[in-house]
Amino acid sequence: MQGKNTMGRLADKVAIVTGGAQGQGAEIVRAFVAEGARVLIADVADEPGQALAAELGDAALFAHHDVSDEESWQARVAEVNEAFGPVNVLVNNAGILRFNALEFTPLEEYLQLVNINQVGCFLGMKSVARTMRKNGGGSIINASSVEGLGGMPTLVAYSATKFAIRGMTKVAALELGPKGIRVNSVHPGMIDTPMTRVHGGDAAMEFGASKVPLRRVGTPSDIAPLYVYLASDESAYVNGAEIAIDGGVTATHAFGG
Ligand code: NAD
Repeated sequence: MQGKNTMGRLADKVAIVTGGAQGQGAEIVRAFVAEGARVLIADVADEPGQALAAELGDAALFAHHDVSDEESWQARVAEVNEAFGPVNVLVNNAGILRFNALEFTPLEEYLQLVNINQVGCFLGMKSVARTMRKNGGGSIINASSVEGLGGMPTLVAYSATKFAIRGMTKVAALELGPKGIRVNSVHPGMIDTPMTRVHGGDAAMEFGASKVPLRRVGTPSDIAPLYVYLASDESAYVNGAEIAIDGGVTATHAFGG
């Protein structure tokens, strides 16, 4: 098998990371490889995805992949199986963000977010379940958000998809748990990535930081260790959980903030 590494907390893991070309996904890929996993980086962003795979050598592959396309999922599962063996970790990390007041959100935009964030997560879980079940189980980690725990003005579509991911995670944990597959959702607060930087740069980061009890926004390297833990056998009894990683922003309600 290509890129086999017997050291590390993820030595026996074969992972697909969607949206792994940049932002949090890229840091998750790097952390997984550092812990001995072999990883398929699945993203629509070809250039950064290929560059990351080249940086990581034999333990990583890049494939162009649109999470909303069911056929593409079947191709990725077969491809990873051929290169590294059966997939036993799936990170449904790909996502897009749009700001718009409910009254002015075009249906097209709403459905675009549903297709990528929500349908993408559903198709991912559906596509790997059979292989994981037949090969001794696995771990599925779904990127929700603090917007999947509470609402925020101008995020009607985004929040709908992130609540949906939280709900789907519970159902999948119940259905797949008896088959040895754990399913959990991760709920980051504001993280400094291309997704958030594009909406206001440093000023947005400073404003975000002022709202966080820890007085800073998060970074992809704050997030990646939680994914390593959930992918590893250290989290063998964690299933159906929703884990906030947000510097404390969801520790209160509007009156307490
Ligand atoms: P990012 O924009 O930096 O990275 C997202 C990646 O997803 C990109 O590489 C992009 O090319 C890819 N992608 C977009 N559409 C895709 C598609 N159809 N198929 C495959 N890949 C696609 O964003 P990020 O901040 O790293 O976000 C990662 C995840 O974390 C997302 O699900 C996001 O909603 C969630 N999240 C982000 C934050 C934040 O503050 N940045 C907070 C909470 C949750």
